[in-house]
Amino acid sequence: MFTPIDPHLHQPQVYLDANATTAVLPEIADIVSHTMQVCFGNPSSSHITGIKAKHLMEETRQLAKQVIGAQTGHILFTSGATEGIQTAIVSALLAIKEHDIAEPILMYGATEHKAVPNTLAHWNSVLGINATMMAISVDQDGLLDHDFIAEHVGQALMICTMAVNNETGVCQDLALLEQVIRANNPSVAWMVDCVQALGKLDLAISETTIDYAPFSGHKLYAPKGIGFLYIREQSPYTPFIAGGGQEGGMRSGTENLPGIAGLNRLFSLLIDPQQSVFKSHQQLHSYREQLEKALRSVFPKIVFNHRFDLSVPTTLNFAVKNISSKEIMDLFDAAGIRVSAGSACSSGASRSYVLDAMSVDNWQSENAIRLSFGPAATQVEIDEACKRITQLKSVLASACLVISDSQVTEQEVCALGLSQYKHQGACCWLFVTDEKEAVIIDPIIELLPRLMNVIQGQKLTLKAMLATHQHAHDEPLASYYSLAGLTQPDNLDLLGWPNQIDDIQIGRYQLMRISTPGHNENSVSYLLMDQDKVVICFCGDLILPGGLGRTNLDDSDPAQMYDSLLSLSQRLSSDSVLCSSHDYAQSFAIDWHSQQAINPLLNHVVTQQIDKQEFIKQKQASDQSLAAQVEYFCGAVVSPASHSLVEKSLPAALSLIAEEGAILLDIRESYEHSASQLATLLNINEQHVRNVPLNRISDAIWQKRLDPKQSYVLICRSGNRSRQACLNLQQLGFEQVYNIRGGLALL
Ligand code: PLP
Repeated sequence: MFTPIDPHLHQPQVYLDANATTAVLPEIADIVSHTMQVCFGNPSSSHITGIKAKHLMEETRQLAKQVIGAQTGHILFTSGATEGIQTAIVSALLAIKEHDIAEPILMYGATEHKAVPNTLAHWNSVLGINATMMAISVDQDGLLDHDFIAEHVGQALMICTMAVNNETGVCQDLALLEQVIRANNPSVAWMVDCVQALGKLDLAISETTIDYAPFSGHKLYAPKGIGFLYIREQSPYTPFIAGGGQEGGMRSGTENLPGIAGLNRLFSLLIDPQQSVFKSHQQLHSYREQLEKALRSVFPKIVFNHRFDLSVPTTLNFAVKNISSKEIMDLFDAAGIRVSAGSACSSGASRSYVLDAMSVDNWQSENAIRLSFGPAATQVEIDEACKRITQLKSVLASACLVISDSQVTEQEVCALGLSQYKHQGACCWLFVTDEKEAVIIDPIIELLPRLMNVIQGQKLTLKAMLATHQHAHDEPLASYYSLAGLTQPDNLDLLGWPNQIDDIQIGRYQLMRISTPGHNENSVSYLLMDQDKVVICFCGDLILPGGLGRTNLDDSDPAQMYDSLLSLSQRLSSDSVLCSSHDYAQSFAIDWHSQQAINPLLNHVVTQQIDKQEFIKQKQASDQSLAAQVEYFCGAVVSPASHSLVEKSLPAALSLIAEEGAILLDIRESYEHSASQLATLLNINEQHVRNVPLNRISDAIWQKRLDPKQSYVLICRSGNRSRQACLNLQQLGFEQVYNIRGGLALL
């Protein structure tokens, strides 16, 4: 059963993702509800209830025309823009099926919403038209290449462009575009996706030769499931949905009257000169200025990915060097600010095709964040948004994501102990003592700026930067030093170890090096010693969580690996924590005892159940099966078994905390944790809440800050990261760990 959210129990959200969808305005929701309950007739019925419904529908159609400036042409109610796009494309393509163009093309802007090229490609194939799909490139401002259009549109069966881009807010100059299109092809079918323009730009559709213009209600405060399509008088039309002949036979199926009523109220507001719901252009520009200022105060090095003078004021797309869009999303989400990474419809993607088309730098596309508000946003909402954004400044500084410019060190020390930094499957480790002496093991180029932020921000002394083997993360050591802005000491070997030195003192610990060839002939392991005990072993790709490094590379040798494993086993204690240079199994933390428990081949070597020959045989077989799996390039792994994972609902988890003394373990990043104040939010005692981010689980384990006998309920934003952490803790022998299903999102 879906339980409605009680707004009083929640941190009020600041919603800045209006380009994805908007909340329905109260006055629109009222009319929708009224239409569902009172004025609910079927417009096709001939009794009075039906006539009233039909009247409402036709009135809405007229209002739509007024809003988009269409004195002529048709307005068709659809389920949304995607249906409008289908209808337009099918109509245009069917009409031109029997063309006599030698090499026909279908043209679309490179930055169109995916609904457009995907629909074009689909119907191009289904209808057997087989025209060539041709993306129109854009310049670095996101504006379509008019010369390219002029050159090719003569062969086009259809051209699809958009009025306002959903990721950047960039507006195309429709008048200029029209001149180019019509000068070179007066009759080509032209669709303009107007979804993001409604309510933000003044449209005068009838003054143009646009053939089709789809719109969507939910992008502008109407409900989901209602939209409309403008069709120019005389432009080709084929009903996309046939049936009972509704909408004059143009689109069958009983009309979505509540949705249409919602549009009715929306349009009435848009054209009412007295209304104050929709803000003036000037007001919207001042909102954007305010937000820009707030963002700049938090991210001094912010880059906006589009020109404000070419964009609607309601969209801000930005990137911050060295802070990924996922990190910003997580941080904003924890602070109750909803934004989107690139485009909401493709939020799984790690870069933005729109920004790629604009040829921005790679990092700008990878780190892009879109912040969008609706034209009915209020000053109070924007003030609150700016307040919350500005508050993130101290959170970011304490997480070392940006260096604080404040002299007052209210920074929580975020780097002490052991931290794992991951880039795809590769891991790099930072170890810092209480005396602020640090060592980096297996540095990763992409992560160096972040690591240097931590080192500078926390005023750490970097004692060494070491690799466990030569190909570990590919670049020569000198590149790491120069990228880090450091002078490389003279007397280092290829892996970064100072010549003629047996151990490196880091605070009260010694770092020792032992040769552990196998994965490569030059592989070493670094042992962090606390007096005579190995507390942490940085073992590179000799041992991976749940697996062993591969031994079928040019300079690998399984026989050497066998010896290395045995020699390592003589030095490690069961609770020594292993830090590998890859973690394909997403295990985060693993100690020597649990590593043997989940890794039978390793276990058989260490307990001498197999000899060297047998190890080589089994290792070669496992390497062979690995050959097919490119994603596990450096070694085989066994993922943690998930069958014993117990998931709890949030209320069940809260009662475990209240009644049985369980600890709520927030495994999100510390900047997300500090932004969300879980104890207050969930009304539990501070002492029952702990924060151990995924990349610091290994730190908590070697420092024994988590107790295998204690019961823990794990939480994150969506339940995914905490699920992984539960499995990890189970591997480490924790028996009472539970995951909170759905995480904070379902609160
Ligand atoms: N076109 C643009 C520019 C959009 O932003 C969207 C939605 O994100 C669509 C089309 C699809 O709209 P709908 O989801 O209403 O079908």
